[in-house]
Amino acid sequence: MGGDTTTYEFDLVVIGGGSGGSGAARRSALWGAKVALVDCGFDFETGIRRGAGVGGTCVNVGCIPKKLMFTAASLYESIHGHAEVATGNGITVGDVKFDWATLKKGRDAYVDRASNAYKRNWGKEGIEVVLGMAKLKDPHTVEVLLNDGEQMQRAMRSGATRTLAAKYVLVCVGGAPSYPDVPGAREYCITSDGFWDLEKQPTKAAVIGAGYIAVEMAGILSAFGTETTLVCRGKTPLRNKMEFDGTIVEKLVEEINNHGPTLVPNSTPAGFFEAEDGTITVSTTDGATLAGFDCVMLAIGRAPLTQDIGLKECGVALDKKGYVIVDEFERTNIPSILALGDCTSSGWELTPVALSTARRLGDRLFGGAPWSRLSYDKIPTVVFSHPPIGQVGLTEDAARAEFGDAVGVDALTAGGMGFAFNPDPAKKVKTTLKLVHVGDDRRIVGLHILGPFADEMIQGFAVAVQMGATVRDFHATVGLHPTMAEEIISFG
Ligand code: NDP
Repeated sequence: MGGDTTTYEFDLVVIGGGSGGSGAARRSALWGAKVALVDCGFDFETGIRRGAGVGGTCVNVGCIPKKLMFTAASLYESIHGHAEVATGNGITVGDVKFDWATLKKGRDAYVDRASNAYKRNWGKEGIEVVLGMAKLKDPHTVEVLLNDGEQMQRAMRSGATRTLAAKYVLVCVGGAPSYPDVPGAREYCITSDGFWDLEKQPTKAAVIGAGYIAVEMAGILSAFGTETTLVCRGKTPLRNKMEFDGTIVEKLVEEINNHGPTLVPNSTPAGFFEAEDGTITVSTTDGATLAGFDCVMLAIGRAPLTQDIGLKECGVALDKKGYVIVDEFERTNIPSILALGDCTSSGWELTPVALSTARRLGDRLFGGAPWSRLSYDKIPTVVFSHPPIGQVGLTEDAARAEFGDAVGVDALTAGGMGFAFNPDPAKKVKTTLKLVHVGDDRRIVGLHILGPFADEMIQGFAVAVQMGATVRDFHATVGLHPTMAEEIISFG
């Protein structure tokens, strides 16, 4: 990179203040770069949001509020949903109640504090924050249609702009939920963005989709006691076997069938209609109807917010779905324009991936580490399902595609001690562990966990897998007894 000796007002202009944009701006500023960050903004005076808000998807409409809901839902589920476990442990469960409004208030306040912390951190790092809508004018110039606090409406109307020139422009505009092209989708359904505005707990909800968001949100609603239906086009949710291991998905479906939500597989919505009683009906392509919902949530994937920001006009290559095409150094086909996070073709729509690439990008551009980049190999990930999934590395199918007959697998399903006193064996939440290894030395290329605390367990194991641990290394480690995690280092 480099070679451009022109002097610009800024070394770096970042478009988008989510996990990726913020991470890149902060790391670059730390190295002494002069950085401007444009975010389409949260108006702190009026409370009006445009886009996801300062902090992006993760903070405002993604990971953070979701984890708060997941935590509360898990707590409620362990007292109320698994009351028989409490009873078995000698705990008398009384009249347990859940108040949606209290949780929403606490959650929204938490999100606002987190969003404000982003702004404060940008200030501390000396980053110039420009609130408004950014548009690339040429490969070094960004024009911002300003939103400035109380002036926002007038400023938008008068078209007040500011022009920023930089050596590098980094595009981190993220994505937004997609809608299916079927009647009634936009009129009668919400997406994961609209979920956070629900003032009342839905009584009967349908969640349409089969990915992370569908599984997580359907699990949360169901655990809170909403009568929830998860509607999947395919036979199961998370059915991409290169992404989610088949054994884990099979066991997740067993858990869902045991504890909820109600899974409706092989069902594709053809339309959404309002019934006379005001509830929503979902009609499906095979002629069936699912009726009586006071909430229908779409979670069928997300699309990049790359339109109307001047990318095409500047000649930046986008793929068919509108993702910015980048290489492993987050470079586009235009040397001064880089992109990272959910709006890119990297294929990883995960906050920690955006943050990690962002920090390395800062190190690379301004920190004297031109080699620095994220390895997309062995990225751990968690699905906050009930129970959660933690995984790192390859699924069995992906490993077989890469290593053929050299692949070996070991899997076990067991009940943890947390459910020891549950009188009904069918109601025990089970844990499934799966190791995928390669070669005579059984190097671990994939580890998959479904079960309580899988979300916390996987991180440490990810370090070992990243370092190339073998099954023998796991066996050479002393287990912590009695835990479910000790099974991981002793089986296989
Ligand atoms: P995903 O792309 O992961 O999954 C959406 C799924 O919905 C598709 O795979 C498809 O599954 C199904 N689908 C697609 N179109 C339709 C349709 N028209 N009708 C019915 N079903 C359809 O999207 P999500 O929205 O779940 O998540 C978006 C991204 O956010 C993910 O890539 C994930 O990385 C990230 N995320 C990460 C989280 C985490 O780390 N815990 C949490 C939440 C999100 P099928 O083909 O089987 O029908």
